Amino acid sequence: MIFTAPLYASERHCGYCKDTKTDFFALESQATTFKETSNTKTTPSKQSVTLGSSILEMTCQEYDELINCGFRRSGDFLYKPDLLRTCCRLYTIRTNNSYLQLNKKQRKSINKFIKEICPDESILDPIPKNTFNLNRLFEAQSKSTNFKMKFEPSKFSREKYQLYKKYQINVHNDDPDEVSEVGFRRFLCDTPFPFEEINGTKEEWDNLNIQNWFKDKTNKVKRIGPTHVCYYLNDKLIAISILDFLPSGISSIYFIWDTDYAHLSLGVISSIYEILLCEKLGYRWYYLGYYVEDCDKMNYKANFGGEILDVCTETYYPLKDIRPFLKNGRLFVIGDENTKGELDCEVSGNVHSKALTDDDTNISETIYGRAETELESKKDEYILKKRYEIYSKGLGLYKIPNVMPGLVPLWKIKKWLDEKEISASYEQQLLLGGDDVIYEFGDLNAQGKSIIIDCIRVFGLERVKNSTIALQ
Ligand SMILES: [Zn+2]
Repeated sequence: MIFTAPLYASERHCGYCKDTKTDFFALESQATTFKETSNTKTTPSKQSVTLGSSILEMTCQEYDELINCGFRRSGDFLYKPDLLRTCCRLYTIRTNNSYLQLNKKQRKSINKFIKEICPDESILDPIPKNTFNLNRLFEAQSKSTNFKMKFEPSKFSREKYQLYKKYQINVHNDDPDEVSEVGFRRFLCDTPFPFEEINGTKEEWDNLNIQNWFKDKTNKVKRIGPTHVCYYLNDKLIAISILDFLPSGISSIYFIWDTDYAHLSLGVISSIYEILLCEKLGYRWYYLGYYVEDCDKMNYKANFGGEILDVCTETYYPLKDIRPFLKNGRLFVIGDENTKGELDCEVSGNVHSKALTDDDTNISETIYGRAETELESKKDEYILKKRYEIYSKGLGLYKIPNVMPGLVPLWKIKKWLDEKEISASYEQQLLLGGDDVIYEFGDLNAQGKSIIIDCIRVFGLERVKNSTIALQ
């Protein structure tokens, strides 16, 4: 992987809450302090805070692991929110068919869609009256004469761009002058993935053809790479689903639909299709991006069931178990009550799923609500400065906070340095002025060392060791 040093940035505007929130705190204790001191100058202001890097090169396998550390990509920019300081809690959510329980509205949408693409229902296998069979959706699609889905590389076309523009203007109220081809390319066509993954093989694309979905899955070459799924009704492009096919699942990036076809609820149809597609084609998970409990635009994702990532412990918990902890848009971290200090977060992406047990509680206050945590991190920072020249010469405005959920904690960095896991002879590949160079940690100046440590905190030690950091 090749990436630029992570940038920590905040901005006033948040696309999720649209800046309407008055209680935007991660912790109950922050909200209480706010109420008590809200007339003083110390009042924190609402802001949207993210950490991100531009990615010059990344494989789908690497991105797969990073999604499972709470990251998402927008074009070739990779980012994750600062869950402690940003105004909305953005949690990674994934699901699959075993979590799917269709509600009445979703069933109705499916029936309506089937009727649209198979007006003559007599060509479908008969089912008993007043029953519902999800497999009919596939049957209808495979027999439809007016509807088809085309899987293709995530490449630009005028037709796609026109639909995108219409969608942005009608659905997101974008100013028509501000919707541009360049913006569309950057957001939904550009990817940091290698050429072979972008283009795929003929066999990969053939296997995505509906006629092949039901064939024997063994020895099938699975598509791995960024993909546009184009929906055509009567040869007109009516929707595009922008997806990443990854080793552990299919990740949904964006869905664009023609507002003239709003009655078809294409957003619902596409999500259900994709969850079923995972099952039929042998992908374990369907990643729906971020779930935001208190945002109406994002919490519809709960309708597909699934599980939510705790970035601190790299564990997924069923949404239905974790929901009480998400109330009021709060932060959750699962552990037991005796926890002291910051958890050992490795940012490895080797996640597992777990049901909540009686011993598990939300320990976010215990970790992030106590002054000791911040104090201890200050001590660690002081030692890093004195002993190892790290953070001794500022990274200024963009310095990553000492304490942030889902990053390698400073105490662990200190431990690695003390135990020579990161030694003076630790070699780091850097991209400097277009040239690949290897530097030994001990030979770098204070700023260089701080940048490498920041990268390790954000992306994990193993990953950084095997990556190249591009310095501008
Ligand atoms: Zn917000």
